[in-house]
Amino acid sequence: MPTATPMDVFKGLAWVIAGVLFISSLRGLASQETARRGNGYGIVGMVLAILAMLVAGSKDNVVFLIGALAIGAAVGVTMAQRVAMTAMPEMVAILHSFVGLAAVLVGYAAYLAPGHATVDSAERIEIWLDVLIGAITFTGSIVAFLKLRGSLSGKPLLLPGRHLANLLMFGASLAMVVPFATLPGVEALPFLLAMTLLACILGVHLVAAIGGADMPVVVSMLNSYSGWTAAAAGFMLDNNLLIITGALVGSSGAILSTIMCRAMNRSIWSVIFGGFGADAPAGGGNGAKVEGEMTETTIDELTEELRNAKEVIIVPGFGMAAARAQHAVKQLVDLLRKRGVNTRFAIHPVAGRLPGHMNVLLAEASVPYDIVLEMDEINQDFPRTDVVFVVGANDIVNPAAQTDNTSPIYGMPVLEVWKAKRVVVLKRSRGAGYAGVDNPLFVAPSTRMLFKDAKAGMEELVTKISA
Ligand code: NDP
Repeated sequence: MPTATPMDVFKGLAWVIAGVLFISSLRGLASQETARRGNGYGIVGMVLAILAMLVAGSKDNVVFLIGALAIGAAVGVTMAQRVAMTAMPEMVAILHSFVGLAAVLVGYAAYLAPGHATVDSAERIEIWLDVLIGAITFTGSIVAFLKLRGSLSGKPLLLPGRHLANLLMFGASLAMVVPFATLPGVEALPFLLAMTLLACILGVHLVAAIGGADMPVVVSMLNSYSGWTAAAAGFMLDNNLLIITGALVGSSGAILSTIMCRAMNRSIWSVIFGGFGADAPAGGGNGAKVEGEMTETTIDELTEELRNAKEVIIVPGFGMAAARAQHAVKQLVDLLRKRGVNTRFAIHPVAGRLPGHMNVLLAEASVPYDIVLEMDEINQDFPRTDVVFVVGANDIVNPAAQTDNTSPIYGMPVLEVWKAKRVVVLKRSRGAGYAGVDNPLFVAPSTRMLFKDAKAGMEELVTKISA
């Protein structure tokens, strides 16, 4: 048995410490209070892993490696600094596509590296798996990116016989592993190329079939896929840290997807097999047209109602993020609480455009954590609430999710704001939300509409209440 060199021991130790740091990072990210620390652990773990690779790895291409790292770091820092909070899901989706593409390229590099003429079936299966998941992640993430950006329609693409097509493509890719794992040298290449092409089409088709409102789960599922592809690359490259990291990302992404599916009353299996958003509605899937008149309110009227209220719940949504109104919202909450009004926040699991979006914005505005409640914690409190103030939210407070089985969001649990004595909705127009469906809440007898930009409206309200 070959004895380990000091360098091997150093590398092994660095891998273990980095692995522990990644686990601590995930643990830290589980709550708002510890998220910053968790992020720090992740950064330190990644720096340690890269340093160990540079010190203990092969020195043949070290200049090339440092150059690639410098370019990657410069692009990453620039993207992270420029990205608006509202565009985060798009950035996450495009980053997943990079992971997928990298996995495909690493798979091809491993296959075409000197010595590929000899067949090692186990190694070939690892390459096959890495390229398959990588290619699905790559194209699927690009479609998710385009849908989230609005460059592609959010409507699901429902080709006839699409489940059969998916099954056939997956079956054909699966069948190709046999010749690929047994034929010597470049003879196996056509099978790898054909499987990559099929996997790329499969990635596009799986995500294209999913409707706009269900994209959060898709993004978190693609996150999971990118982890599994990294783990497969780890097996292929004999890199334990890549296996650990990939498995952590893969399983945490899968757990998050399951939690989100539960929150949206969807089946995780239908997300994995594509097109679940299109299957949910029992009827056509466009939702019933809402009849009725919206009643408008004014800042003066709302000021009066808030001053006289005892219990107020604020429901923030994507519009608060788009308008960057969170600081003005915090000022309003401070004023109301000073006047003795019990003011709290109700957070829907898919409010905004990324998991935890509202929590991050409210934390940035220094809103105390104890008044920020999740949907399950606060839904039963709406009937005894005087005023619910909906700030730039729409789909997450749409009663049609419970009553209209033709709606694309039917079955998604929502915040039951309509049970409160008064609901005031602050938004700019009569326009729909992300899912593109009408909202009967807006014409309900107890609802008042305040048509303004969330930040401008909130600042006006703060000035009025503090006067
Ligand atoms: P919605 O997109 O349903 O509604 C947001 C509302 O905000 C719109 O109706 C819009 O109306 C209003 N708005 C936009 N800009 C402003 C502004 N400057 N000032 C005031 N209002 C504004 O958001 P919700 O948060 O209610 O629901 C989230 C939706 O996004 C769900 O369908 C969810 O599935 C989906 N999604 C969630 C992701 C996640 O991970 N959280 C990821 C991807 C999608 P108007 O134009 O009239 O102002």
